[in-house]
Amino acid sequence: MLNQSRHSRQREAILALLRSTKLHPTADWLFSELKKEFPNIGLATIYRNLKFFEEQGLVIKIDVGDGFDHYDADTSDHYHFFCDSCRKVIDLDMPPLQFGEVLPDGFSSEHHQLVFFGKCKNCKLELCS
Ligand code: ZN
Ligand code: MN
Repeated sequence: MLNQSRHSRQREAILALLRSTKLHPTADWLFSELKKEFPNIGLATIYRNLKFFEEQGLVIKIDVGDGFDHYDADTSDHYHFFCDSCRKVIDLDMPPLQFGEVLPDGFSSEHHQLVFFGKCKNCKLELCS
């Protein structure tokens, strides 16, 4: 749109890109993809917007212990699998577990995250390159 600011166009592009992928990308991945459309975009802009989306509840941040924050625009209850072999963060198609009832007395949880580790289906079959 003509009268849209550069910043809001970049913000929309970051969110659209996140919504278009199942890769659970890092800020660096988003940065290298978005540079194609916005050659002047900075990594700080990516981080600032990711923080904003997270605060707005539009994306979730996933820590799989690989040293990178991964981002997911799918905020529904779902679990992830981190493959030690291909290093992919994969959505698991399984029903949400009911952890609420197993929390110790006095604790109440609003949400939870769960990551499984091991070898993904493809790597087990040695299909990953
Ligand atoms: Zn794998
Ligand atoms: Mn996911």
